[in-house]
Amino acid sequence: MFLKGKSAIVTGSTSGIGLAYAKALAAEGASVVINGFGVAAAIETERAALEATAGATALYDSADMSKPDQIAAMVARTEEELGSVDIVISNAGIQHVAPIDEFPIEKWDAIIAINLSSTFHLMRAAIPLMKARGWGRIITTASAHSLVASPNKSAYVAAKHGIAGLTKTAALEVATHGITVNCISPGYVWTPLVENQIPDTMKTRNLTRDQVINDVLLDAQPTKQFVQPEQVAALALFLCRDEAAQITGANYSMDGGWTAA
Ligand code: NAD
Repeated sequence: MFLKGKSAIVTGSTSGIGLAYAKALAAEGASVVINGFGVAAAIETERAALEATAGATALYDSADMSKPDQIAAMVARTEEELGSVDIVISNAGIQHVAPIDEFPIEKWDAIIAINLSSTFHLMRAAIPLMKARGWGRIITTASAHSLVASPNKSAYVAAKHGIAGLTKTAALEVATHGITVNCISPGYVWTPLVENQIPDTMKTRNLTRDQVINDVLLDAQPTKQFVQPEQVAALALFLCRDEAAQITGANYSMDGGWTAA
């Protein structure tokens, strides 16, 4: 339990990869703040399970990642109620699939706010607290789309390329403070975010569900398998270790070979 006594915030952790991060951190004894949308009873069940696993506190915070004041308040609440903010995993994300000339302006704005700007606001609030203790781990969930593009995902690709640049910048700024900042860039991970974009892709490309899964999603992934959320979480856990203290400003691909092509 190498994270006993540490506190972590994981945004977008009511589902998918975020929930896997929270479970991995709790399994190593960290107090965890989970965040995101969903059914209250289901979130409470996950929160209680995390607390039981960690033997430490687990909190739920409903901060909307498109609202800078709510992000700052979540960080302040964590410091106050858990005593420190040691690990921040910026993970909340949404997707919308459409060509640029048909892309709804409000979807562009929401994706940039939630997938990119929220990470800036989290860093801005958490870095002074980490600097004060001389230790911190900031991890961002980017994507293979931080390195390569796909058609019809303009806002997502722009936001994820932005995350990669923001992560490198933050790493340089805090390098002498015992704080590391790294990206994890998964390929297709089997989560609700991927499942939910299948109908749009079927419509925009005029394909069946099986064609979208095999010929579009897994077409890019040479291993022909989805990444599992627990595999992403295992890498994040390693980045929290003292052995990873010299890994900073890196962008780790976990994409079944997608970006090697
Ligand atoms: P998911 O849809 O399962 O989970 C997204 C989480 O973000 C949920 O908890 C949701 O409630 C939360 N969320 C959405 N809008 C929010 C907001 N405004 N404020 C707070 N929380 C909000 O998705 P996932 O697949 O687990 O994706 C997690 C991250 O991983 C995203 O940043 C995504 O871009 C990235 N990613 C996913 C894949 C994949 O294939 N699933 C691949 C690469 C990167």
